[in-house]
Amino acid sequence: MCWKVCRSCSRMVDVDCAVGHTPCLTAADDSGFEIDEAEVIYWGRCPECLAAASAPTASAHASEQLS
Ligand SMILES: [Zn+2]
Repeated sequence: MCWKVCRSCSRMVDVDCAVGHTPCLTAADDSGFEIDEAEVIYWGRCPECLAAASAPTASAHASEQLS
């Protein structure tokens, strides 16, 4: 499972997992664990927060417009 998380409003969006070889999905030292799942979280800012950041006059209530 992979997620994108917005640092500004904490919105989480699930995304299709990255394809190809992704660092850290295979542990170098699994300490005896049998790994059956790994999660990837992409941290950043969602489009709404980016828009709010680029339009300062509209940023005051942007985080309250949750649907
Ligand atoms: Zn956001």
